[in-house]
Amino acid sequence: PAINPIESSLLDQATPNSVISTTLNDLSNWARLSSLWPLLYGTSCCFIEFASLIGSRFDFDRYGLVPRSSPRQADLLITAGTVTMKMAPSLVRLYEQMPEPKYVIAMGACTITGGMFSTDSYSTVRGVDKLIPVDIYLPGCPPKPEAIIDAIIKLREKIAQEISEDRNEFQQGKRYFTRKHR
Ligand code: SF4
Repeated sequence: PAINPIESSLLDQATPNSVISTTLNDLSNWARLSSLWPLLYGTSCCFIEFASLIGSRFDFDRYGLVPRSSPRQADLLITAGTVTMKMAPSLVRLYEQMPEPKYVIAMGACTITGGMFSTDSYSTVRGVDKLIPVDIYLPGCPPKPEAIIDAIIKLREKIAQEISEDRNEFQQGKRYFTRKHR
């Protein structure tokens, strides 16, 4: 948010050279980047591949990913599988219940375009990005677990870029708080 000159000088006095607030912000960003918590959201066959990541073979906990059952504890939504028209309101509601900043990976052809349901189907959403904003598109039918890990690494690169831009603005006094992602 824009900060007027009086607020700005008060903040400068309260946090000389913004050292304390910058350090706290860095700590918070480091935690955000290193520990994305995905919501368990699977609607069909793609989720089987996602679920295999949780086991010891792929062990995606090593990336700091801890699957959550509650949207209020998650900051990553991986839409794994077909999204039907009936489920669309629930998906949007789950997304809205996640705290900011939050990220979305659209996993699989069905989620990205409707897949094999993209023609002659009255019941399937043809592209989850019509409902919620998508950060990374992961095509395949289904994408392999290795591809999901690759998508997560790409998302982390994107977040790191965002954090770097935030930090520059923070140091230039254009921003005093981490931006809302959306
Ligand atoms: Fe199933 Fe393929 Fe659709 Fe994934 S993309 S939900 S594997 S049909």
